[in-house]
Amino acid sequence: MPAYALLDRDGTLVADRPDGEWRGVTDVPLLPGVASALTALADLGYTLVVVTNQYLIDEGFIAEQDYARTTRSLVAQLEQHGVRLAAVQHCPHARWVACPCRKPGTAMVDAVVRRLGPMDRERSFVVGDSACDTALAERLGVRGFRIGKVDEHGGTPLSSLADLPAALRSSGQSRNVG
Ligand SMILES: [Mg+2]
Ligand SMILES: [Zn+2]
Repeated sequence: MPAYALLDRDGTLVADRPDGEWRGVTDVPLLPGVASALTALADLGYTLVVVTNQYLIDEGFIAEQDYARTTRSLVAQLEQHGVRLAAVQHCPHARWVACPCRKPGTAMVDAVVRRLGPMDRERSFVVGDSACDTALAERLGVRGFRIGKVDEHGGTPLSSLADLPAALRSSGQSRNVG
């Protein structure tokens, strides 16, 4: 039963930026410490999955093909570090669309579970920098980690993804789940 590391993208793996500054972006450099943190998670047996809200696609700020290029950039950078993502799921729908996939909706995770196997809820977790990420963790019944803004929206606070392996270790969840 896979233990999923459900990873937000913007503000978690790569820098977030204002809506208008995503136009034409095709390369997304990893934030410091991300590659080594993901290596540590993979070594612990986690199945690494990106789940990202990309409403700027439908809202006209990001071209679908540019989004696809940023995904290839992300995958390629991680591959250079020997890190493999099992899936990259995105919701392209505008914020005014009531879709089931935009976090905290669970449809992106449901699709991953159908494809890769039922989730080990004891060990799986969501990590992200927004309220929708910790809300997704609550809906899934898994642990949530929140990067930055300690006082808001619950979840275990982290200053960056680099702190996650140690946080898992200190919570006794570091034993190999593979
Ligand atoms: Mg984010
Ligand atoms: Zn959606």
